[in-house]
Amino acid sequence: MKTILVPIDLAHETGLQKTVDHAVALAKMHGAELHVLTVIPDYGMSMVGSFFPKDFSKNAVSETGAALAAFVGAHFPDEGDVKQHVRHGTIYEQIIEVADKIGADMIVMASHRPEMSDYLLGPNAARVVRHARQSVSVIR
Ligand code: ADP
Repeated sequence: MKTILVPIDLAHETGLQKTVDHAVALAKMHGAELHVLTVIPDYGMSMVGSFFPKDFSKNAVSETGAALAAFVGAHFPDEGDVKQHVRHGTIYEQIIEVADKIGADMIVMASHRPEMSDYLLGPNAARVVRHARQSVSVIR
């Protein structure tokens, strides 16, 4: 295993340390490179998009990039070795696109946010498990 992708939902980051620790341990064991990705969700309606200022997307990407860097600094032991990606679009599609682009061998992700204890697999985790070419390690 050479490349591991960890998709991070910055809107629900409580409880993610367990997922990070699992990915870090796997990466250490295999001497693999770690990549993190956060996706700014698409609003899904171009009409809504047209009401946002033109630089909305650019600002959102740079602000989200800073938030991701802060997350990595706070949660990963060797933060300098972690490659960071910010995308905009449909969450599971972007996770799959980035996994393919970086040649990931494994995706490590949390099953769902902690407060959603009544379902076992969140919508994005379910879609990634179903559609990704890579093995997916789902952390509960
Ligand atoms: P829930 O609706 O309970 O949050 P999800 O399936 O959306 O369930 O979340 C499970 C996992 O999906 C997250 O831990 C993360 O790995 C991934 N994920 C969800 N949203 C995003 C996002 N915006 N960017 C990157 N990954 C995400």
